[in-house]
Amino acid sequence: MNSSIRMTPQGAGQAAVGAIAPVLLPSREGNHARRAARLRELAVGHPMADYLGFVAGIVESQELLLTHRPLPPALLAGLAASLGADGAPLDCRRHVRHGHWLVLLRGLGETLEHPALEELLQEEDWRLEACADSLLRGDFHEVHSGEALFIWSALSLYFSQLAAHLPAVGIAQGEERQFCPVCASAPVASSILTGAQAGLRYLHCGLCESRWHMVRLKCSNCEATGGLDYWSLEDAKAPVKAESCGECRSYLKVFYPEHERGLEVLADDLATLGLDAEVERQGFGRSGVSPFLFPG
Ligand SMILES: [Zn+2]
Ligand SMILES: [Zn+2]
Repeated sequence: MNSSIRMTPQGAGQAAVGAIAPVLLPSREGNHARRAARLRELAVGHPMADYLGFVAGIVESQELLLTHRPLPPALLAGLAASLGADGAPLDCRRHVRHGHWLVLLRGLGETLEHPALEELLQEEDWRLEACADSLLRGDFHEVHSGEALFIWSALSLYFSQLAAHLPAVGIAQGEERQFCPVCASAPVASSILTGAQAGLRYLHCGLCESRWHMVRLKCSNCEATGGLDYWSLEDAKAPVKAESCGECRSYLKVFYPEHERGLEVLADDLATLGLDAEVERQGFGRSGVSPFLFPG
């Protein structure tokens, strides 16, 4: 679960002008409003329209909680202390979660009406914590998929706000980049940036929403360079492709905002499951997480 990008306190070193930032922390405002709008846009005429609309509702609820249930100041004040040790500062398997994530989970229940969520909110805290531990360990099958969606939505809102406030910058120390250098979770997908950073590939964390740099010619899972193939359901200019690796037989989607301006990684990931199905039929397994669709 290690990453060779080390998070160090801000101001510890000067980045060279024009250097590639190893890590882009999520913005404090969050991306939820844009994500919800994109999901509603993609839902029109989509075979999964109902599900996309349902997830848009969850994202809108997350957006409200950003304003109405901000992180407690004491939690933010403790962030600098997380930077001393080795490894990812918010390592999701070692980080001692503050009860605020449960406040966020219960907050989802104030705006969303769903039988699975209502049932979940009857549970005692220790049971919810155990479900969270299972998901963060990657043992997705231990939690009912309908409940996992809400638990992950609360966890992601919690971790992404912590990441957004982390007083740190990433320093590249090697090529090992399979997991998020901030929380050690797996990526959802990667995207190729536009503008001043045009052409650079960043992996997008499925939990804390940090992004980290990885060269394009390597498999994001095993770092092999030989056997990468690109799959799409459209033409070569498709805004989403699946990058498969013949070495480790995994794949991860790559998004190209250059070919589709409104693209939003989590929303577009959910709306392109047809591509996943096709690549899985070819014998590849997805290496990352799907924050809005858990197995089971
Ligand atoms: Zn992360
Ligand atoms: Zn590979």
